Amino acid sequence: MAELTYSEPKAKVIAGAKGDWELVIGLEVHAQVASKAKLFSGASTEFGAEPNSNVSFVDSAMPGMLPVINEFCVEQAVRTGLGIKADINLYSAFDRKNYFYPDLPQGYQISQLYHPIVGEGEILVDMEPGVARKVRVERIHLEQDAGKSVHDMDPNMSFVDLNRTGVALMEIVSRPDIRSPEEAAAYVAKVRQIVQYLGTSDGNMQNGNLRADVNVSVCRPGDYEKFRETGDFSYLGTRCELKNMNSMRFIQAAIMAEANRQIALIEDGGEVEQNTIAWNPDTGEISPLRSKEEAHDYRYFPCPDLLPLEIEQSWVDEIKASLPELPDAKKSRFMADFGVSEYDANVLTAEVANANYFEDVAKGRDGKQAANWVINELFGRLNKEDLNISGSPISTAQLGGILDLIAKGDISGKIAKDLFEIVWTEGGDPAEIVESRGMKQVTDTGAIEAAVDEIIAANPDQVEKAKQNPKLAGWFVGQVMKATGGKANPKAVNEIIAKKLAQ
Ligand code: ADP
Ligand code: MG
Repeated sequence: MAELTYSEPKAKVIAGAKGDWELVIGLEVHAQVASKAKLFSGASTEFGAEPNSNVSFVDSAMPGMLPVINEFCVEQAVRTGLGIKADINLYSAFDRKNYFYPDLPQGYQISQLYHPIVGEGEILVDMEPGVARKVRVERIHLEQDAGKSVHDMDPNMSFVDLNRTGVALMEIVSRPDIRSPEEAAAYVAKVRQIVQYLGTSDGNMQNGNLRADVNVSVCRPGDYEKFRETGDFSYLGTRCELKNMNSMRFIQAAIMAEANRQIALIEDGGEVEQNTIAWNPDTGEISPLRSKEEAHDYRYFPCPDLLPLEIEQSWVDEIKASLPELPDAKKSRFMADFGVSEYDANVLTAEVANANYFEDVAKGRDGKQAANWVINELFGRLNKEDLNISGSPISTAQLGGILDLIAKGDISGKIAKDLFEIVWTEGGDPAEIVESRGMKQVTDTGAIEAAVDEIIAANPDQVEKAKQNPKLAGWFVGQVMKATGGKANPKAVNEIIAKKLAQ
């Protein structure tokens, strides 16, 4: 299949008081591995469980407990790496990132600093048809999640819930290749789409299963290009990091707020410090939290409890052979096989269940028409009812049946919409419904001709006008449709009216 070609989107330019600025953004996306057990313990990862009910001795860091690597989690990281065309490192290793926090009983997080399991890859971020950014991914590593501190349950006390402690995360680190808030959101959406296609994470942002640390800096126009040519980061501004963002809307608003803060600061003669930034979604306010630690502050060192992770190329190859068709490939195949536009292909492939539904309907039928019906009628209706595709009351066989009736000329597009409504609310076989309710289109030209004659005879004035101005023929079409209860074949009606009026 031919790969689509794209031009790059423009970088966002922000006008400061003293000239233009451009945005530079790099993201660290944390995707929770879709594993029933944690990364180094057998405790459950179930969401919404009673606080502290999914905690093993390993997670609570009881003395003498030893972590044991969960092979399934390793496999998901490899799958994700292969899904973004990344290098898989047959040798990787775990390090301790030491810091104190009440929700981290070990006193360190086990992560992979020096030898991540996945190396360089890339993610194509679609912006609009024909426009996309290739964002380079630096690495993906496996690490443990921390627990949760709860500060709002009691005025005098804080609580700790360790259910999430030790859950496996894949940290997907991008290069600073993202140039606008919209691209940052689209990038996160694409990461989520890919992991969902792969089944390696459920990507549920509301539950915090996919969240992003957003690094933002600003530079003068032209400097980013110099950075790309030379790889020299000193062409870029100092970055600040917005932590744990789990909404596309917040990501975009926070990036703009942070960029404006940095620009005002620099133009005022100040300097950006490399800080972690808090953004308040209620007020839109932004405030530097703490100066960002350096790697040496964490005293990273190889985790002595775990052997380096060595995997076989043959295992990687096996995983590769089992990869599903991914969004980009599916999209270009839909365009090639079904003749749908890139825009429609994007909509159809956004979720794999939607794509499968469409493909079932489109197979062996007019692809463009199938796309129209699936997107406009079905998705439109599902949206209105707040349902997703698995809750659709209309099966692919039923929608396909409606399209077949249109193709055969049994029903017009207009009647098909009525039929869609009936099938949606009452169910049933479309062909049988059309038969039993007399919805079949009148294609019998004799019957249509009789209806046309009757209307022409009753409206001599209109006939005169229509002879002067052929556009008025539409009025006759409407009358015939009314007279036949909308069942007359529109093409036949148009032809017969044109013929009669020309006489
Ligand atoms: P750390 O380990 O301290 O978080 P990294 O070098 O791993 O630092 O970078 C973290 C993220 O910050 C990466 O996604 C990277 O692309 C991004 N980044 C680095 N420099 C900049 C910059 N000047 N502007 C925006 N993002 C940046
Ligand atoms: Mg980081």
